[in-house]
Amino acid sequence: MPTIFSKIIAREIPATIVYEDELVIAFKDIRPLTPVHILIVPKREIPTVNDVTPEDEAALGRLFTVAAKIAAENGIAERGYRLMVNCNKDARQEVFHLHMHILGGRELGPMLVQADMPE
Ligand code: 5GP
Repeated sequence: MPTIFSKIIAREIPATIVYEDELVIAFKDIRPLTPVHILIVPKREIPTVNDVTPEDEAALGRLFTVAAKIAAENGIAERGYRLMVNCNKDARQEVFHLHMHILGGRELGPMLVQADMPE
């Protein structure tokens, strides 16, 4: 079964695509948590970070160069932003097609709220 992100890559479902090349695609998150919330996705369907192989290094490196480009284009490079990759249940990964979130456009607060931390 292709993931929802593979369907976006194949243009089978719509998305607001902001960048695409041979290795990655970037589109706006459908439920934005911040004024700028964009997902950058390797085109190869890697389920989680645990499934990454050395062959993925070019695409995974590309996530960062594209993140920097998107941050500049959206005017958040100077103020800053957060890059986030969730893996599996404890991180509440929802879509099992590896992706990087770019979150920015407002002050983001602490990385995790204190209440989420075990004592
Ligand atoms: P995760 O929790 O897996 O790191 O994040 C998945 C993200 O994908 C969520 O922020 C969610 O809003 C977003 N998302 C889920 N389905 C779709 C979709 O069909 N289109 C777009 N653009 N984003 C989606």
